[in-house]
Amino acid sequence: MGEHVIEVRGLVKRYPDITAVDGIEFDVSRGQVFSLLGPNGAGKTTTVEILEGLRDPTAGEARVLGQDVRSGYRRIRERVGVLPQDFEPFDRLRPREAVTYWARLFDHDVSEEAVASIIETVGLSDRADTFALNLSGGEKRRLGIAMALVGQPDLLFLDEPTTGLDPGARRELWTLIGDLKKKGRTILLTTHYLDEAEQLADDVAIMNHGKIVAHGSPSALISQFGGGTTIVLAGAGRGGSQALTARGIAAELHGDDVFVHVPMAGQVRPMLAKLASIEIPLTEIYTKRSTLEDVFLKLVGARMEEGVLAA
Ligand code: ATP
Repeated sequence: MGEHVIEVRGLVKRYPDITAVDGIEFDVSRGQVFSLLGPNGAGKTTTVEILEGLRDPTAGEARVLGQDVRSGYRRIRERVGVLPQDFEPFDRLRPREAVTYWARLFDHDVSEEAVASIIETVGLSDRADTFALNLSGGEKRRLGIAMALVGQPDLLFLDEPTTGLDPGARRELWTLIGDLKKKGRTILLTTHYLDEAEQLADDVAIMNHGKIVAHGSPSALISQFGGGTTIVLAGAGRGGSQALTARGIAAELHGDDVFVHVPMAGQVRPMLAKLASIEIPLTEIYTKRSTLEDVFLKLVGARMEEGVLAA
């Protein structure tokens, strides 16, 4: 298997009414953070659950830590840690108890030192003896990651680890995930937040309708699918978009905003001057460097927001 912790070839999952995963291929190397992105229903959870051994593929191959997901389920479970989507700890367990309980359940080290060390890794030492009920949302996710870390897994599946958290707690979790990566863990991250993937992932695969529509490092994808700068005419609406198109300026309408893409840095000022000369009602005009969100908009034609696919 070499350096690949996950290998996926021609993977297909069909349900009676839909092909949820439609012949995807990707590899995840040891020590990488690999992010699966896509709008609701793209097939991410199905893919991850196949890799976790929870669902059988219809066709194709998937190997995790060298084991075929169909036959090696038990061996895979011993060496992976999972933070499930919408993880909620038991209210009446304290982090120290929850980690001990979990370690015992899976026959891992339950010594005081081992448990304290995991709790420290996730930054919960000060809250180790507080009922989970009284933990903040971010602390509860940290506890979930602590439970995923019992048994020192080679591979972590983090399924939307920061959904629903406030921006401060999200950033703290990013730091924790970055630290886990530095310690050599391989992480498969599914997320609805493109900034999160851009910040954390070495490689991303964007899924849509069961297929991978783009795959590569965030920076490679940004330059492949239109690096450069976007001028945003906020609130310019369909009328603004039509006014620009009529003057030969390529404009894209996203919600009520109009985007004008400028590939070369030197073209930004002339384009701003040109736009200023056209009478368009708008609320604000600003520029932004291309991000993974722009790649996503281009490929999937939609904005990905927390659990919602907005037009
Ligand atoms: P989300 O971001 O909402 O979690 P996703 O990308 O994880 O979406 P999946 O949950 O993998 O997408 O679903 C892919 C498609 O397969 C969807 O159309 C979904 O309705 C369908 N699907 C998922 N599980 C089942 C099932 N057990 N039986 C039938 N159809 C299913």
